[in-house]
Amino acid sequence: MNFNELGLSQKVLAAVEASGYTQPTPIQEQAIPPALQGRDILGIAQTGTGKTAAFTLPMLTRLEQGRARARMPRTLILEPTRELAAQVEEAFARYGVNHKLNVALLIGGVAFGDQEAKIMRGVDVLIVTPGRLLDFFDRGKLLLTGIEILVIDEADRMLDMGFIPDIERICKLVPFTRQTLFFSATMPPEITRLTEAFLHNPVRVEVAPAATTASNIRQVLVASHGHAEKRETLRRRLRSEDNFKNAIIFCNRKRDVAILHRSLEKHGFSAGALHGDMDQMARMASLDAFRNGDVALIVCSDVAARGLDIPDVSHVFNFDVPTHSEDYVHRIGRTGRAGRSGTAISLVTGEDRKYIAQIENLIGNKIDWDGPSPDELPPPLEASRHPRRGERPSRGRRPADRERASDRQPVASDREPSGSRSVRRPSQPGAARPAPPTYGEPDAARSARRVYSERRERRPRLREDDGPPVVGLGDHVPSFLLRPVVLKPAKVGEE
Ligand code: AMP
Repeated sequence: MNFNELGLSQKVLAAVEASGYTQPTPIQEQAIPPALQGRDILGIAQTGTGKTAAFTLPMLTRLEQGRARARMPRTLILEPTRELAAQVEEAFARYGVNHKLNVALLIGGVAFGDQEAKIMRGVDVLIVTPGRLLDFFDRGKLLLTGIEILVIDEADRMLDMGFIPDIERICKLVPFTRQTLFFSATMPPEITRLTEAFLHNPVRVEVAPAATTASNIRQVLVASHGHAEKRETLRRRLRSEDNFKNAIIFCNRKRDVAILHRSLEKHGFSAGALHGDMDQMARMASLDAFRNGDVALIVCSDVAARGLDIPDVSHVFNFDVPTHSEDYVHRIGRTGRAGRSGTAISLVTGEDRKYIAQIENLIGNKIDWDGPSPDELPPPLEASRHPRRGERPSRGRRPADRERASDRQPVASDREPSGSRSVRRPSQPGAARPAPPTYGEPDAARSARRVYSERRERRPRLREDDGPPVVGLGDHVPSFLLRPVVLKPAKVGEE
């Protein structure tokens, strides 16, 4: 089948041709014709399958009839993260080059004023993250009664991020008669319940997960002990990998993203970072720097990175083995895209073996060890051992301890964005150190924005793990509490 047979308008077909696509992908082939007829769609597909065009192309065709009115958007697209929302906006710019449609992005971390002005002028396509949309709605800045098409994208991620109550509320605010295009990579019971409540007789379209264990991705496991040793193993691999161009490095916790990012920069690597606590400008700058090749490495958490379409990534590293096996599939799917070859390397400690077993079970394959397994690994270096509670650290600090201490130093906030750094892979002795990362802007606007975004965007709990909760003072007991207390004997007459 080719695009001409799907029923798309001439303007859309011209844009598709200009994009260089010759054939629709399976999800496009199955979803576009019923979407053009106004049917609801339940698309079970993940990124990499061409699902963005599967909803964008019919929307553009249908939007050619009618026009937008002030404060009343005609179509609404819900995305779980700001990056995905921005990616969909880019898709509209590409496929909508021959249309004069107003497309607006309503996401956290961007000034209210500009967004409001756009909505006032009338918007054909409004692309939003749920928190910011409800904010606007609750302030009376827009009406949802003119919505003709509602798209809910990456629904299972919305669930992971705690957005489902917001989605339910939004579904009740838009007209009952709208068309709904609903996409999810998986169908857990909560998502099925949502589709039963809000989709009307949908056409179900299911495509095989992209590149689950694609043969063009070389997967290996590398045994390592705790974090300091894993950082060293990672550096060694980054310096020695064949066909290395760039790498996405995944950590399980956003706290560790920041630590690893600083450590890599300290060792002379050009690296960016991406996690949910960074403000929007820093997130976009990191992502752009990686996409443009200004930095060769990006350290990410799952929440920030899932679903991003970065076409040419040679390596994926699991600095931490993911505890959910599906995340492994999503992570390694960032490389080996569009038929290219890629490498996925997981650093595995003894405790991770149970997760590796689950992953192998899911993908139906054993993953090879490169070098010894954790059982065969020599015991950890004395230097990489954290002092136990109550144990006094030695006076002369060893190299691994020094690295940890510098990792713990707070990041100054008035540094350049990571996008301004040059590409350097291995450590270059004597080379100027790249500017350390910025996780925000230095001024009052930044703190105001951060307070705002924490209050609003993070209202649904983002499930990025901060690690186990600290009880009481945790491992840190202030020294004044440990000082012996001398009790004077009471004098006669004193109580
Ligand atoms: P998505 O699943 O929407 O994230 O799309 C993944 C990638 O596939 C994007 O880079 C699109 O530009 C590309 N793409 C979408 N549709 C087609 C097509 N019919 N032929 C070739 N590439 C496509």
